[in-house]
Amino acid sequence: MGLVVQKYGGSSVADAEGIKRVAKRIVEAKKNGHQVVVVVSAMGDTTDELIDLAEQVSPMPAGREFDMLLTAGERISMALLAMAIKNLGHEAQSFTGSQAGVITDSVHNKARIIDVTPGRIRDSVDEGNIAIVAGFQGVSQDKKDITTLGRGGSDTTAVALAAALDAEVCEIYTDVDGVFTADPRVVKKAKKIDWISFEDMLELAASGSKVLLHRCVEYARRYNIPIHVRSSFSGLQGTWVSSEPLAQNTQQQGVKVEQAIISGVAHDTSEAKVTVVGVPDKPGEAAAIFRTISNAEINIDMIVQNVSAASTGLTDISFTLPKAEGRKAIDALEKNKEGIGFDSLRYDDQIGKISLVGAGMKTNPGVTADFFTALSDAGVNIELISTSEIRISVVTRADDVNEAVRAVHSAFGLDSDSDEAVVYGGTGR
Ligand code: ADP
Ligand code: ASP
Ligand code: MG
Repeated sequence: MGLVVQKYGGSSVADAEGIKRVAKRIVEAKKNGHQVVVVVSAMGDTTDELIDLAEQVSPMPAGREFDMLLTAGERISMALLAMAIKNLGHEAQSFTGSQAGVITDSVHNKARIIDVTPGRIRDSVDEGNIAIVAGFQGVSQDKKDITTLGRGGSDTTAVALAAALDAEVCEIYTDVDGVFTADPRVVKKAKKIDWISFEDMLELAASGSKVLLHRCVEYARRYNIPIHVRSSFSGLQGTWVSSEPLAQNTQQQGVKVEQAIISGVAHDTSEAKVTVVGVPDKPGEAAAIFRTISNAEINIDMIVQNVSAASTGLTDISFTLPKAEGRKAIDALEKNKEGIGFDSLRYDDQIGKISLVGAGMKTNPGVTADFFTALSDAGVNIELISTSEIRISVVTRADDVNEAVRAVHSAFGLDSDSDEAVVYGGTGR
């Protein structure tokens, strides 16, 4: 029996009862003969509450101190979980991200893992302990400051540790039974997916399916770590995310799978749209705008540029970005207004994105047309469109998103016969 990494999200450890329930589950894995390394998130909505608190003290908190604050959430749950396990008569030790050897760059609030040196974790499990690691945090290589990996970053901690420890599987325990064809909070008839490729999961995650974080799937694909997404509230098999439907992994044997044409529908209401109005239609303008944005270390998502009306020689450029970075983007562009040369800026945070994902799209030319037809039948107006080989995304009004997701889900025959999608916990925040 090899080593397993298990990650428990905030909704699985929302209160003392949740921590005790999870502790029992961890002890079961240990009793079955595995070495067990656990990654744990902050309890319930603790991270959101800490963010609210920081904003009451300062509208733009300094990155270093903000990270120091947020990592406290995971420290609370790791210590409590270790106590609960000891109370069941098993040995457990808790470790911060820094103690576990999670080394990152120094970009506060969204640091990237650059190395994992889990010597202390290895020693701890070799001595017979269950090792509990605080998710979502690390230490910067150069300044030795405490960093966080971005919202949902405990998923990445888990996969990075699984890779560094050569784990046989990385189990992600959450509040739904696996990855579904749409968010079960929005589509009651969403179906659980038994197996999904890294590629399709990457697109779903990048498009807003927060059940797994995009960076975590990227990491798993790079190191070929199979992920098993499942509920900590039920004993059911969940969703396997891996390169091959039936990998050599023994736990994965016998799972019935088939490659779907369409994997699912994702939605995202965490983005905003910036429109740069009255940009001269000449070479170098887009470069100047996006250099400004990238110098401010802001990641953008979609971009559209309209052709200029010939008479004015001016054009508009719109792009989407995380709402959390909206203020920073507007400030950076305003500062460079003269250098770039534009008339004005518009900011719209009442948008939503809907994406259809599936490898079968490459060979089924009708998919795009069917997608747009489903949206039009639902009376949903499209504002921006972007595509990749295996994804189509549109931006709509935020108010239309849930209806649009349900319409597209039905139109592609993804609805299950029953209302099988159970949400066991969490507030959906
Ligand atoms: P955790 O606290 O365990 O990290 P998250 O809230 O980050 O949990 O992720 C689980 C949530 O992801 C679910 O409760 C569900 O609402 C949402 N979700 C979005 N898209 C999907 C999907 N396609 N399949 C399953 N869950 C999804
Ligand atoms: N607690 C962090 C968050 O809420 C990290 C995580 O849960 O993965 O974003
Ligand atoms: Mg999560």
